Amino acid sequence: KGKGKKMAKAASKTIQNNAVLGAGIMGGGIAYQSAVRGLPVVMKDINTAALDLGLKEAAKILGKGMERGKIDARTMATALNAITPTLEYSALKNADMVIEAVVENPKVKGMVLKETEQAVADDAIICSNTSTISINQLAENLDKPERFCGMHFFNPVHRMPLVEIIRGEKTSEDTINAVVATTLKMGKTPIVVNDCPGFLVNRVLFPYFAGFSKLLLDGADFVAVDKVMEKVFGWPMGPAYLMDVVGIDTGDHAADVMAAGIPERMSRLENDPITLFYNDKRLGQKNAKGFYNYG
Ligand code: NAD
Repeated sequence: KGKGKKMAKAASKTIQNNAVLGAGIMGGGIAYQSAVRGLPVVMKDINTAALDLGLKEAAKILGKGMERGKIDARTMATALNAITPTLEYSALKNADMVIEAVVENPKVKGMVLKETEQAVADDAIICSNTSTISINQLAENLDKPERFCGMHFFNPVHRMPLVEIIRGEKTSEDTINAVVATTLKMGKTPIVVNDCPGFLVNRVLFPYFAGFSKLLLDGADFVAVDKVMEKVFGWPMGPAYLMDVVGIDTGDHAADVMAAGIPERMSRLENDPITLFYNDKRLGQKNAKGFYNYG
């Protein structure tokens, strides 16, 4: 009986050629991770300067790996060769899977996903690395939403083990299975979650950030809070430092998305220090000033 069941289920698609859209912080990291794990990847952006940045980022991570003796010169050369930069959608025609990692803007993503669907093979899988936009909403732009899901990597991609795979209402199980298998091939740990505001990680993280903001409004010192979380709770970093790493602009935007999605639990605080910092253009490590000063 068991045997018949197994036979009936077709094996899910094996991904042999990957592609990433956007060569930014995340796109460059995803391209690196794919290439170093033996999965060739086309990396598309809209200008050569952006492509150069993505390639440089991949080369930098590979160089550090070599310095630490984690990879040898041959692996480095093979990985760099496995990333094909392009400005053209036509370069996606042989891709089995495309991971969209362009700017976090629903209009831009909607357009890019539509253009991607026209450029790829009928059975290619399309994923979005969005941190905050609903997968069901993005799926509305597609003719074949069953081949689409979220594939949310964390920053920095080469160090963070987790990948959230987000199932939209119309995502097929074959799509999920193929993306899980590819995540494992890329050396990452997949978790499959349903579409909801914040998916899983930000749904857990943002109540923590909200608690931190409340403490600050009550007069707590952020350095002291960070110390407690690091030294007493043993977390790798406290909330202020983490917010600087994430980017205060990104954090503020994600908090808005959580508030809109689950207002009864995540409504924004009046005078939230995160928003005040954002308005003051203290964006965290990306512009060298956030809770802490850098550089
Ligand atoms: P980024 O600004 O560093 O890079 C975005 C890239 O997309 C740029 O190189 C830009 O030129 C390119 N781009 C814009 N329009 C394009 C188009 N039409 N076609 C191809 N490329 C285009 O952004 P990022 O931080 O890498 O974020 C990318 C995505 O990943 C966003 O959806 C973001 O929410 C998500 N994300 C970011 C982080 C993070 O910590 N930065 C973590 C997880 C997920």
